[in-house]
Amino acid sequence: SVTLSLLQSAANAFDFGGPVLCDAHHYGEGHINDTFVVWREDHSKRFILQRINTDTFTNPVGLMENVCGVTRHLRAKILAEGGDPARETLNVIPTLSGSTCYLDADGGAWRAYDFVEDTICLQQVGSEADFRTVAETLGKFQNQLEDYPASTLHETIARFHDTPNRYANFEKALAADALGRAKNITSEIEFIHAREQDCHVLLDQLAAGEIPLRVTHNDTKINNVLIDAATGKGICVIDLDTVMPGLSAYDFGDSIRTGANDCAEDEPDQSKVHFDLHLYEVFAKGYLSTAGASMSIAEKKSLAWGARLMTLECGIRFLTDYLEGDHYFHIARPDHNLDRARTQFTLVRQMEEVFDQMLEIVCPDNH
Ligand code: ATP
Ligand code: MG
Ligand code: MG
Repeated sequence: SVTLSLLQSAANAFDFGGPVLCDAHHYGEGHINDTFVVWREDHSKRFILQRINTDTFTNPVGLMENVCGVTRHLRAKILAEGGDPARETLNVIPTLSGSTCYLDADGGAWRAYDFVEDTICLQQVGSEADFRTVAETLGKFQNQLEDYPASTLHETIARFHDTPNRYANFEKALAADALGRAKNITSEIEFIHAREQDCHVLLDQLAAGEIPLRVTHNDTKINNVLIDAATGKGICVIDLDTVMPGLSAYDFGDSIRTGANDCAEDEPDQSKVHFDLHLYEVFAKGYLSTAGASMSIAEKKSLAWGARLMTLECGIRFLTDYLEGDHYFHIARPDHNLDRARTQFTLVRQMEEVFDQMLEIVCPDNH
């Protein structure tokens, strides 16, 4: 936990243009970093101050190089398009000594951003219009980063969406069966084994040069997009910790996995799990309206695979953690990770049933 004095000493390291007031209550609903709001003493301006989770992100300096590089690039694009760079991208506040982050005496790493005012941050898909807005905003983000040199980015989490590697890790956990849980999951094991070839589809297309390596966000949940409170327009893509070289199918797919259904990620009752093809279509149209122009037919088709594979991969990760004893994902009940895995697999099965339609939606008449 973060004490007020620790927070205050971190805040004192940044160039906020004067002293700031701290509040030790966490702000927002992030699950990875510790997020706080600090105000200038005269209340003229507030900022986001975050302690980076260095268990997850072991190289915070490299991570901040990514964030600074990407936001600098976005700022130039937004200016060229006549937008407002103060609101439409994160703006990193440097430390008083000119660094991008502050390393505290306990080994913590901190960073600060301007607070993007007058926005809303949705936790769930409330309306089709909002989901479309999120899609447009993420598509635009991808488009603005089209010419960013992906190879200069640090890989902040190694092999994040390397699905064959996730499969291999599952196989290792299964072979070890450290807690004797494999006997409880024979049908799930069968489900995964039947899809070993699927795990390779996207990386094979990349290796064959059929789809491009891009700069991707890799955590495209709706609460990582801020929406203008007055107009309902998409404003700013936030939470850039996992910006890395990747595939558009990853970002598209993870949004579909998390947004195009009506259930909680850990829904235990599989009869309540429904992949929503209509919401998929809503998202696809929004995304392609901003990102589609630069995408080939093959890349558009890869988006449908992204939905399937990001969901399969996530289920594989939950089940791997179940086999290994629930070390990675926090659990609130026994079999929590098993429920999570089953929910993902139910979604995968439903996507498979309508996969031809999913392809047609992202690539109508092969265009
Ligand atoms: P996640 O669980 O999605 O990985 P996280 O722990 O990495 O989240 P962030 O998404 O960076 O944390 O921030 C948490 C929340 O704080 C956001 O969902 C948003 O509500 C708010 N927030 C973050 N940055 C800003 C900002 N610059 N302006 C306004 N609100 C912000
Ligand atoms: Mg977030
Ligand atoms: Mg995050």
